[in-house]
Amino acid sequence: MADPRGKVAAITPLGQRRRPSEWCKRCDRAVVVGFRVSDEAWAAVVGDAGTIRCAPCFDEEAQAKGVAFTFLEAWPVSWSQSLKAT
Ligand SMILES: [Zn+2]
Repeated sequence: MADPRGKVAAITPLGQRRRPSEWCKRCDRAVVVGFRVSDEAWAAVVGDAGTIRCAPCFDEEAQAKGVAFTFLEAWPVSWSQSLKAT
C-alpha cells in the first residue's frame, strides 16, 4: 500500500517508520497526522521524495508556491502508536 518512492508524504498507517523519520524536516515537530498527496503535488511543492513534511507545513509551502492540491488521505498517529510500530 505504501509507495516507497514518496507518495506517502509523512508516515504510513500505524506508523511503519520509526523516529526520526516521523519528524517534519521543516518545522521539526512530530507528524501526528500522516497524509498522502499525489506524486505531482509532492514534486511541485517539496521536490525531494525522501523527506518528511507535516500537513500544515505542506499546505503552507503549497500556498506559497501557488500549487493547488488535495489531501487524498489522512490519518492520525499518536506518539505511542508511532513508537510501538515497527
Ligand atoms: Zn512541519
